[in-house]
Amino acid sequence: LLALREQKVTTNLEPVTDEQGTFMSGFAPFYDSAHQFVGVAGVDLEMTDLLGRLAAIRYATLASLCGVGLLSFAAGFIMWRLRRTAALAAGHDEQAVGELRRAKEQAESANQAKSSFLAMMSHEIRTPMNGVIGMAHLLRDTSLTPSQRDYLQTIESSGESLLTIINDILDYSKIEAGRIDLENLPFDLRQCLGEALDLFSARTTAGGITLVSSLDPAVPGWIVSDATRLRQILVNLIGNAVKFTSRGEVAVTVAVETHAPALQLHFAVRDTGIGIPADRLDRLFKSFSQVDNSTNRKFGGTGLGLAISQRLATLLGGRMWVESTEGVGSTFHFTITTTPHQPAAPAATDTPRPATTDSNPAGKLAVRCPLRILLADDNPVNLKVAQMMLQRLGYRADPAGNGREVLDAQALAPYEVILMDVEMPELDGLAATRLLRAAGGPAHRPWIVALTANAMADDRAKAFAAGMNDFLTKPYRPDQLAAVLERAHRGLAAGPR
Ligand code: ADP
Repeated sequence: LLALREQKVTTNLEPVTDEQGTFMSGFAPFYDSAHQFVGVAGVDLEMTDLLGRLAAIRYATLASLCGVGLLSFAAGFIMWRLRRTAALAAGHDEQAVGELRRAKEQAESANQAKSSFLAMMSHEIRTPMNGVIGMAHLLRDTSLTPSQRDYLQTIESSGESLLTIINDILDYSKIEAGRIDLENLPFDLRQCLGEALDLFSARTTAGGITLVSSLDPAVPGWIVSDATRLRQILVNLIGNAVKFTSRGEVAVTVAVETHAPALQLHFAVRDTGIGIPADRLDRLFKSFSQVDNSTNRKFGGTGLGLAISQRLATLLGGRMWVESTEGVGSTFHFTITTTPHQPAAPAATDTPRPATTDSNPAGKLAVRCPLRILLADDNPVNLKVAQMMLQRLGYRADPAGNGREVLDAQALAPYEVILMDVEMPELDGLAATRLLRAAGGPAHRPWIVALTANAMADDRAKAFAAGMNDFLTKPYRPDQLAAVLERAHRGLAAGPR
């Protein structure tokens, strides 16, 4: 109507809905060629489609909003889960660390208990062994029939092998517990090798096998390492080679493996013995392992020697390995890292090895080295063994049964040397020594020797810390006791300590 009346273009502002649908309408006047108003033209825009499209856009917008909302929620949820998992993991980590710490403490205390148990067992076994081996040594010097001498030899060799087993087990447990103290001192390598070979020369000669050794000229004469442990490895490898070889030869060679960055020496012990099956080679260095179960019955041994030797070679800065062909022979190799040493001339007087003393050289030792000796031991058998060994050296020692008796005896008539068992009732050897040292005065400065079945390195350290002057492990041989007394005589002559 507006378009008709005022001849203007007009449009509906709101969509109009009738029975034919929803429309938006627009009207425009039109004119003839003389510009005379003719009429109005109207256009209806059907809105259903447009509204449908708008609805789709609305839905899409709504869906997007919902989607964004959901995604935000999901992201939040995931973050929450992640934080929670992280918190739980941290809690678990703490728990795991706690459990690990507890397991470590348990393992350490179990290891400690094992070491104490082994040390105690070693002490308990050594105490009666001292009686057996000591008496056997004393018996050897009496008049015996050939068959009695033969029986005695069996007692002695069984005693020695039992002692080897105890020492092996102690060594192994010390290595396992990381409690082995290595020396790092100069020594004559040829002498060390010679001492290891000497132990087997009689056996190889009697058994009909040849024992040979060769050192490459490039190998230094003196080196810095642990002579005792190196000898122990050599003795074990040569001992095995001799044990498992019935004909042919056992050869020990030493060569330089490398010069730089450090000097490494290569030792090889080759035999022409029974060899080792290929499928058994890998288990040789495991503890208590023997190639087959009959080995122990036939050849003896504990199956610990190689396990110890390999660990010692590692501790000496090297490694150990084996090559073997069954029925042909075996070669055990090992290396050590060392440094060459130039001994101060003359080398012979510089040897740090203690001289061994003949148990009864002479004239009697007591004539050369007169000493007033007090002997303290609560075990009557061990007291008797020591008294009889001392008697053979020409000494007469007074006995004491515990530390208290030592203090009383020393107060009455001061002794120059006290051979002191460590574990005794009432007052043990260490406590008695501390009290004697605390008493002071020249009369109270006897030379005190621990004579003990305790064989660990820290037992030795404890004895010296208590104020003892020397240490001898049971079972001991007469020549070792004689060496101790000679040292005591020298020590006392050197004046107050
Ligand atoms: P043990 O000799 O005390 O039994 P070892 O650890 O020294 O313990 O040796 C373990 C085993 O390895 C021996 O029992 C033996 O079966 C084998 N074995 C070692 N050395 C040799 C060798 N040279 N020839 C043949 N077998 C050997």
